[in-house]
Amino acid sequence: MNLRSVLALFAVMAGIGAGAVAPAVAEPAPLDACYTWGRTLSEGASGDDVRQLQIRVAGYPGYGGVLALDGQFGPGTKAAVTRFQQAYGLGADGIAGPATYTKIYELQDNDCTPVNFSYDELNNCNSDWSGGNVSAATARANALVSMWKLQAMRHAMGDRPIDVNGGFRSVACNNAVGGAPASRHLYGDAVDLGAGPQGFCALARQARNHGFSEILGPGYVGHDDHVHVAHRSSRFWSAPSCGVSREGVEQLPIDR
Ligand SMILES: [Zn+2]
Repeated sequence: MNLRSVLALFAVMAGIGAGAVAPAVAEPAPLDACYTWGRTLSEGASGDDVRQLQIRVAGYPGYGGVLALDGQFGPGTKAAVTRFQQAYGLGADGIAGPATYTKIYELQDNDCTPVNFSYDELNNCNSDWSGGNVSAATARANALVSMWKLQAMRHAMGDRPIDVNGGFRSVACNNAVGGAPASRHLYGDAVDLGAGPQGFCALARQARNHGFSEILGPGYVGHDDHVHVAHRSSRFWSAPSCGVSREGVEQLPIDR
């Protein structure tokens, strides 16, 4: 959420910008209650601000891609930023500057989740993200990344609501629903989607473009009634009824 107006008021109250040396003070840089970038970022940059950017554009790695969240602004990050800019009609130069940040600020809530998704809907197991296969903090951080991927997917599909049925599970919650022992739900990055207005197959197909290395859907055992998207170390896609295969090779003439 953009705090520009609030902070501009503070600036006036504090006398900032009044009588400064610079003759024409430009519009103040946007500030945000979640996270504010302090510099323009381009290829070659590194740091936590790069990593924060990578989380926000994690849904734009291209078909079959997964963007590394390593704080290193390399070609993959540039391509993801470019796709993000194209998705929102910004100048697409792969350089994250004020226009890109302003769009991100519009898209994020004060808790850093994208505006159309929340921690609550990604955890209907417990209140503190504990008891999974990773620390609560890691599970929550993983869920945040998945939310940004879903936000990209939602936008690409016409900004219609995506129906989230759940995400994180503790070991106890996972056992209670008969989840696989190594389920990505135990890591916080898996999300189960209802059909919503898009339908299962459209969701499963579209997810291939948004950084989900694990996609399970109709035709895969236990997944005829939802689509499961998650992160894993190597690709595993299987929604045979939708033409989404383990190898990622098209089985039906569908657009990506
Ligand atoms: Zn699942």
